[in-house]
Amino acid sequence: MDNLLNDGNFDAIIVGAGPGGAATAKALTQKGFNAVILEKRRLPRHKCCSGLLFGESQVLLKEYFGGLPPEELYCKPKIINASNVVGYEEGRGFYEWYWEWPKKKISFPRDYLNIWRDKFDFWLARQSGAEILNPCAFKGFSLERDMVIVKANKGKESIKLRGKYLIGADGASSKVRDILDPDFKKTYMEVLVYQVYYRYQPMGLLQDHFYVFKNFSPHALLGGLHKKDDLLAIPVVVPKGVNPRPCMEDLKNFLRKKFNLKVGKPVRQESTFMNSISFTSKFCQGRERVLLVGDAAGLIHMNGSGIDTALDSGYQAGMAVARAIKTGGDAVNLYYDQTQDIRDHIGECNKHQQMFPVSFLSADGQPCG
Ligand SMILES: Cc1cc2nc3c(=O)[nH]c(=O)nc-3n(C[C@H](O)[C@H](O)[C@H](O)COP(=O)(O)OP(=O)(O)OC[C@H]3O[C@@H](n4cnc5c(N)ncnc54)[C@H](O)[C@@H]3O)c2cc1C
Repeated sequence: MDNLLNDGNFDAIIVGAGPGGAATAKALTQKGFNAVILEKRRLPRHKCCSGLLFGESQVLLKEYFGGLPPEELYCKPKIINASNVVGYEEGRGFYEWYWEWPKKKISFPRDYLNIWRDKFDFWLARQSGAEILNPCAFKGFSLERDMVIVKANKGKESIKLRGKYLIGADGASSKVRDILDPDFKKTYMEVLVYQVYYRYQPMGLLQDHFYVFKNFSPHALLGGLHKKDDLLAIPVVVPKGVNPRPCMEDLKNFLRKKFNLKVGKPVRQESTFMNSISFTSKFCQGRERVLLVGDAAGLIHMNGSGIDTALDSGYQAGMAVARAIKTGGDAVNLYYDQTQDIRDHIGECNKHQQMFPVSFLSADGQPCG
């Protein structure tokens, strides 16, 4: 027998304690509604990410959360200026790498902040004012008249929650999205990001730079490198189905030959999928009483910045739910209308994205050839 939590009194049940889930909860609690966040991992949890707060994220944090994170969340170097984000390719040398593009001609701060995602996300979730259940894995939902029934596993215990709305803020491989629209999977493709942390070693590259590498391996799409405290974070991105480990070896060999970088044993490894939803412009923002935000909706810039879009879409979803409960309106429509600027900005940024060769992604999001 499943336990029913809170007698069904939740205004919103939010799946995922990333920036999207925390921002949704923040908007709701600010408006006096109650929200619960279900997070499948024990918090604070690592997230495969470079952990840079780009300029727009900083603006949104001030607007929605009242300020930037406290000092203990940053790594050294704390600041990576936009002009120090550079690409490198054999034969081309170093070149400017654009991570962030102005929105409606408004530019954002160019000093990007280097944070630890485990600390940052935990801080955000606590700032949200919502109840947080973790580890608590979302398992499924059903719609019943004007309520959503959610099943989850809280540790070993099977629980049921009842709420007015369900928010899928559960990242790029969203289970909420898969249940809401099982066919949606056919509209996009995925790449795998594999990131390894090594002890920092002296090298022929600068410590306050973020480097992006291309053409170092026949199978990888790109690689990167930047410093976080006494560690070097080195990601490689490969098409789904390609083993990333040999590509990581290719990148390490390339870095040794070119920049005299000899890394030791890995300290930590992590991986995640990214998908091409945002490249197809066919976002999945919800239906009926279910709203999707951040990566779950596909709202991420194709150059890989998505903390900003998760904060913004999450907050707008929370506001839409609050308004719908008060006025009886349709939360999904309100949310969709409120996020036109986010979708427009993603479209504009994608025109300038340097991460994927355009030939790699066809218009419908399937790999070419
Ligand atoms: C390698 C890499 C580097 C990146 N670097 C940057 C960067 O520097 N700056 C930037 O702005 N963006 C960056 N991004 C993008 C950024 O990480 C994401 O866009 C952002 O985290 C999206 O936030 P979110 O809240 O939508 O999802 P997430 O942050 O992915 O949070 C989803 C949460 O849901 C939880 N969850 C999943 N399934 C369940 C379930 N069934 N039940 C309960 N909980 C569940 C997960 O554990 C997770 O905590 C990067 C992405 C990658 C892959």
